[in-house]
Parts: sequence; C-alpha cells; structure tokens
Amino acid sequence: QEARAVIGRYAPSPTGPLHFGSLIAALASFCQARGQGGRWLLRIDDLDHPRVVAGAERAIRDTLADFGLVHDGPVLYQSERRVAYAEAVEHLKNTGFAFDCGCTRREARDGPVGLEGPVYPGTCRNGLPPGREARSVRLRVQRERIELLDHFQGRYGQDLAADIGDFVIRRADGITAYQLATVLDDQAQGVTDVIRGADLLSSTPRQIWIHRCLGWAPPTYGHIPVVVDADGEKLGKSTGALALDPAARQAQLIECLAMLGQMPPASLETRSVPGVLRWAVDNWEASRVPRRMDCRRLEMPGAG
Ligand code: GLU
Repeated sequence: QEARAVIGRYAPSPTGPLHFGSLIAALASFCQARGQGGRWLLRIDDLDHPRVVAGAERAIRDTLADFGLVHDGPVLYQSERRVAYAEAVEHLKNTGFAFDCGCTRREARDGPVGLEGPVYPGTCRNGLPPGREARSVRLRVQRERIELLDHFQGRYGQDLAADIGDFVIRRADGITAYQLATVLDDQAQGVTDVIRGADLLSSTPRQIWIHRCLGWAPPTYGHIPVVVDADGEKLGKSTGALALDPAARQAQLIECLAMLGQMPPASLETRSVPGVLRWAVDNWEASRVPRRMDCRRLEMPGAG
C-alpha cells in the first residue's frame, strides 16, 4: 500500500487583514502538511461576495509572503467555482439527498433548539407545500451520530438530526453555503489534512456528512484552539491589539509556535524567517498542540 500524499490548505476569507489568531491557524496547517512532506495549498473563500472587502485578499497574500508561508500550486478562488457548486447541488437533489425549501428564515426557526439555534422543523422535507416556491436548498440529515477523531481536540461528534437539522447548502440569495463549498473544494484539491480554527469544529460533522452523501472519504481534521483575549473574546474580534507586525516576524512566528505547544528554543530568535519555519516544520509535533490557548500567555510587542 502506497503512503498517502499529504495535502494541507489554508482558506482565509478576504474580509479583513490576517491577525495573530489567523497566523496561528496558517502556521499550524503549514507545519502539519510540510512536516509530513506534504503540499500546502491556498484557497481564497471569496464566495460570499457581499462580505468580501476590496484589497483584503492582496493584504492577506502579502502577509503570508512576509511571514514566509509560501503555498504550493495555483490559488483556488471560490468565486470561480460556481459551476461545480451548482452541479453538485443538482446532483444532491437528483439523488434525493437534498430538497428545495420554501421556508423563510423566520419559518425555519420554528423547530426545537439545537446546537446552533433552531433545528429545521422539516416543513419542506417531503416536497414543497402547495403554493410555495423554492427559496433555498437543504441537505437531508439522519438520526445517527457522526464522529471524528480530531488531531488536537480528540473525539467529537454530533447527531445531525437532533443537533443541527436539515441544513442549507444553497442560500436563498443563490450563494452556495460555506459547508458545501468547502467540501467540494477540499475534494477538488485532494486535501487530506484540514487544519483550521476550533470555531469550525461544530461544522465538521456536517462536512463529513456531505462527503458521505457524495460518496467520498472525508479528510482528517485538526481544530486548533481559538485564541481568546483577556476578556475571553475571540481574538479576531478584538480591536487589533494583536495585529501582525512584519517588522517582528521572527518574534511573532516564535510566539505562535509557543502557543502551539511546540517549545521553540531561545536560539531561534537569531534565525531568519525561513530558518524559523524550517525548524517549525522539522520539529512539528501535532500531539503537543494544546486544547486551549489564552493570549494572556503572550508577551509580544503590541500585546494589550
Ligand atoms: N474561510 C473560512 C474562515 O476563514 C475557513 C474555512 C475552512 O478552513 O474550512 O473562517
């Protein structure tokens, strides 16, 4: 049996600049892929065009380059994948996994409370009620526990029927939902190791379910803890206290490695950016990534 070729990816949304928390996620996915001799790809999640901020993609790519995080191969833009997404939605409808839903957002909120708000009450599950027009497309889920063994968080699972409900794969505004787009892209890029922030852990059972509906084996997943600020707020939402500073690249990369439990030696401070990254890749130990991170441990210029 041939060893599987490892492929990782980083998939930022161009909605603003990268911050310290994004750098941790990017660095972790980079090390996880390159540390296994694999490739590391870049995808730009620019599908939700109302949220895209002009210039943000350029800024993100410049920052990644500044920090030495050079990706392999061409960049995948979600905005260029609309045909593939539409075909998948049709396929899921034709195979009975997905259905047209005529409910307004308000009507869909009539169900019991699940993990992320109301569970869809099932109104259009067996066909649109008379006089109703299709608004969104939902994927049917079933009562069954979907589990994963996360590289960093351990075992995690959901019963999609009880916890989430039939979920939207094409929104009423016609935009493909993130859950479906990311699965189609991960499959198209051959991604084997999805490393990203723990805020997406609760999406993962839905993504595994989509892979299964399409007859694909899902990748493995690792969700790195979201860094919180002193008030317990997710770092990305705080007002840039931990902005990235290209003038302090080594120090910030070393700080990220420390947050990721990799115990960088003090001697790294004298290395170049590529030197720090080489150390990071050569010494990457996924088992050392902590389940929780708190930026109170941070001592860096500009840390509030
Ligand atoms: N674009 C998503 C975000 O920035 C990440 C998607 C993913 O890694 O699956 O939150």
